[in-house]
Amino acid sequence: MMNDKDLSSLRLNDTTLKKLNTLGIHNLWDLVLHMPLRYEDETHLTPIGIAPVGQPCFIEAEVIAQEVQFRPKKQLIVRVEDPSGALVLRFIHFYPSQQKQMAIGTRIRALGEIRHGFFGDEMVHPKVKTVQKEDALAQNLTPVYSTVKGLNQQTLRRIIGQALNQVSLDDTLSDAVLNKLNLPSFTDTIHLLHNPPAQFSAHQLNHAGLPAWQRLKFDELLAQQLSMQLAYKKRKNGTAHIMQGTGQYTAPLLDTIGFELTNAQKKVRHEITQDLAQQYPMHRLLQGDVGSGKTIIAALSALTAIESGFQVSLMAPTEILAEQHYNKFKKWLEPLNLKVAWLSGSLTKKAKQTVKEQIERNEIHIAIGTHALFQDDVLFPNLGLVIVDEQHRFGVAQRLALKNKGQFVHQLMLSATPIPRTLAMSFFADLDVSVIDELPPNRTPIKTKMVNEYRRSEIEAWVLKTCAQGQQAYWVCPLIEESETLQLQTAVQTHEYLSEVFAGLNVGLIHGKLKPAQKADIMEKFVKNEIQVLVATTVIEVGVDVPNASLMVIEHAERMGLSQLHQLRGRVGRGQAKSMCILIFHEPLSELAKARLKVIYEHTDGFEIARQDLHIRGPGEFLGAKQSGIPLFRFANLEDDLELLEQARDLAPKLIAKEPESVQKHLMRYLSHKQDYLGV
Ligand code: ADP
Ligand code: MG
Repeated sequence: MMNDKDLSSLRLNDTTLKKLNTLGIHNLWDLVLHMPLRYEDETHLTPIGIAPVGQPCFIEAEVIAQEVQFRPKKQLIVRVEDPSGALVLRFIHFYPSQQKQMAIGTRIRALGEIRHGFFGDEMVHPKVKTVQKEDALAQNLTPVYSTVKGLNQQTLRRIIGQALNQVSLDDTLSDAVLNKLNLPSFTDTIHLLHNPPAQFSAHQLNHAGLPAWQRLKFDELLAQQLSMQLAYKKRKNGTAHIMQGTGQYTAPLLDTIGFELTNAQKKVRHEITQDLAQQYPMHRLLQGDVGSGKTIIAALSALTAIESGFQVSLMAPTEILAEQHYNKFKKWLEPLNLKVAWLSGSLTKKAKQTVKEQIERNEIHIAIGTHALFQDDVLFPNLGLVIVDEQHRFGVAQRLALKNKGQFVHQLMLSATPIPRTLAMSFFADLDVSVIDELPPNRTPIKTKMVNEYRRSEIEAWVLKTCAQGQQAYWVCPLIEESETLQLQTAVQTHEYLSEVFAGLNVGLIHGKLKPAQKADIMEKFVKNEIQVLVATTVIEVGVDVPNASLMVIEHAERMGLSQLHQLRGRVGRGQAKSMCILIFHEPLSELAKARLKVIYEHTDGFEIARQDLHIRGPGEFLGAKQSGIPLFRFANLEDDLELLEQARDLAPKLIAKEPESVQKHLMRYLSHKQDYLGV
């Protein structure tokens, strides 16, 4: 969106402009919406004699003594007095200029909190200015803004004031809407928060429930809803290839996979084929708990696209997972005489080049790989469908790249992590969602056990028993966030140790530092039961599918996140045999760790676990936005503002239908330079 409200009209110098940019301020609206972090009260003075302890207060007094003390540490001590009492101002860090400023006999005003110090009442690091006796007090509370070094509060306040004079604050919402939602007007909101009138206390203004803050939260959520709903509409009005499918490949695959689709799988398959047959691009998220059978649905969707004459690409977030898909798809598709290609960052340059050329010559039906598939120089002449596995694991930047790649292609995104409701309503509101809410039959539920590390020998006995019955086990090494080297070392040691303990078994080791070919080799041996116990770092967390493995041992489970534990546990319970997951914990356990382990012990339903996870970690983590540094909202908060979010969601379509100009104005105010990120 073009912006006619840039900062040039303010005639600021380059240094100031740069500082504003650092604060995320690029136009007049950003300034108008750069809201105070808090408010300071300099509207009235409190006599020292009656000033309360522990609350901010503003005093006026005369400096009667000043000294630099060196014990326990160099500090500046300034004694001040008013007719009602005396006070010490203490500065542990200070400049010579402050000594001059507070020379004996100077009249000062100081804002700070009084506390009882060893030598009497004192303020530590108060905000001080020198005054004349008759200097007027501030009429209003003083807003305090977030700022950067070299841009002081006064300057920033002045620039915001200028911006306020240059924009029109007319409302984007009608009086009727404001009345109904019980929200103040935009003009009142902005003026109140930047220039609070005298009757408001700092306590009132700092309170998130203040109607003015509610209005900003609502506006922000509304802007996001408008942008998502417009994106949704735009997509439905867009064009894509119509893919009817013929059954030429899907029918034989269904005949040979060896199982019948569950009703839930049939339902989502139907939803996807309906989408593919439309002339606008599908953006569908397929959700299903770990083990619910998303892969076969992805394969059938790919075949429908291929039957209709198009290429497919399938992207997974890790090499191991991509490779598993590659092997599975090869097994399913090559008997149908279809060409499956492998493309990942770890291929040699030459090998990559060969694959790229095959793709460009349209000789490949489906290309599978990591995000290397979406590099700019991979050109699919005939791409019709993009499938993204574990989509929420991709960062925002990668999702953007994908979005830009194909406006006309259909997209199917798979995720084992159910999106929490507030996120589904906000950041994922432009997607259609299908849910597989049923696991394939004959799965025995996974039994979860929590075992103290002291009982290691019992666990080893369980492993032996499991393998004696012809099944296999995973042994997951602890996560060591601080050091990858240490983590690797631990894995290597665990492998050595277990190889000795399980002398009659083949114990394998897999971790992130292995070459892709080595990883593939080990996974293949595990699939064929040539390896019975697989020692692994958390690389196996995502998507690995070996139905004969029925025991999962997780070391230092207390260090892992909830969804990670759920994903790991989901690696077993995929075959006919009774499965078990053993969580080894080390004492002492933090409260957070206890809370997490309790959730994973009590629940097997991924949706419930994700809900609890959101509660423990917050939504930013889920979106992967944290890494990318993109704040979700400036004012609103998805955990607290559900009601406002629902109201915004309901209002958005009405505005889009009836007041397109207000919609544009609203988006411009709140999202002028964020547009790109919101539809990701
Ligand atoms: P996820 O949804 O976690 O990706 P997968 O697609 O890997 O799950 O499926 C898990 C396992 O269940 C695989 O071994 C798969 O072949 C099997 N499976 C999938 N659908 C069915 C079904 N309808 N009946 C029996 N087994 C199935
Ligand atoms: Mg999967």
